[in-house]
Amino acid sequence: MSDLKDKAFKLKDLIDSANSIALSSHVSVDGDNLGSSLALYIALKNMGKEVIVYKSDEIPNAYNFLPSIDEFAIWNDLVSHDLYISLDCGDLERLGKNKELFTIAKNKVVIDHHKTNPGYGDLNIIEFEKSSTCELLFELFMLMDFNITPNMATALFSGISTDTGRFLYSNTSPRTFEIAKILLEYGADKDTAYLNLFMNRPRRKLEVLKIGLEKAEFIDDFLAISTILKEDLKSSGASIHELDEIGDFLRDTEGIEVAALIKEADDGIYKISLRSKEYLNVGSVAYDLGGGGHIKAAGATMKGNLDEVKEKLINRILNERN
Ligand code: 5GP
Ligand code: MN
Repeated sequence: MSDLKDKAFKLKDLIDSANSIALSSHVSVDGDNLGSSLALYIALKNMGKEVIVYKSDEIPNAYNFLPSIDEFAIWNDLVSHDLYISLDCGDLERLGKNKELFTIAKNKVVIDHHKTNPGYGDLNIIEFEKSSTCELLFELFMLMDFNITPNMATALFSGISTDTGRFLYSNTSPRTFEIAKILLEYGADKDTAYLNLFMNRPRRKLEVLKIGLEKAEFIDDFLAISTILKEDLKSSGASIHELDEIGDFLRDTEGIEVAALIKEADDGIYKISLRSKEYLNVGSVAYDLGGGGHIKAAGATMKGNLDEVKEKLINRILNERN
């Protein structure tokens, strides 16, 4: 039996024997995290399971179209669930305040595709060659013989299309396209998903994108780096969760291999977003800085004054090139 099949059966057994199941998002939610959490949430609810999906962070409005998004809950009592399944969350810390709930659950499962994931569950289903957790979850649904409803298909399709940059990045395999096709046949609402995810940018996001591009600096015609400070968030009206397009836009410049965005989260605390195009492993850079992620998209949190943070970051990136 293949390893994934074996794990799918173990997961099915855990689900069958659990009376109360918890799922959750991670901090700085994204489409893959929300899509996978909601698809599994809907599946378990349809099976008649007692299931709750906890939110770990604020959810941007762009995701409001996702089925059951309004059912995300915040925990009040520290209860021990029979089963806690963490999805698309590369390390325990990224569960934010839900970390405690995860830790005290009777059975802990991790379903993820981040290479830097240490495997913090009892059952770890981690496949880093998968484009997205949604793609991995689809395979698990097939192996567990779960029925995929149109709402589940929309959630999974949304996660796959966001994590692959609309089927553009090199994590997109023939199987990814095949799964996308099957999800459309199962009734995924592609048009609504695309409209909300990619064609409905709030004006404030456009304003902050303008600031990020204006402030971009270029090093060796190789690295593009920009900074968004709290004052930039204030003047544009954007939140720190609405900066994802800046790094992508800078990366997609001729000759640029790496884009780095430094985001001021609090005094002396900076969140770093890294993107690469062809060959540089930003996951390794982020990991060394205390974060993690993928080869071509990764992040970390750094402390210190801006000049120090920036210098350390640039040096670590240039070092990875050599
Ligand atoms: P983003 O730049 O969009 O915030 O994150 C890109 C990728 O890096 C995502 O896959 C995300 O999971 C990962 N990532 C971002 N920040 C962190 C972090 O602080 N720790 C870890 N482990 N991964 C991160
Ligand atoms: Mn993902």
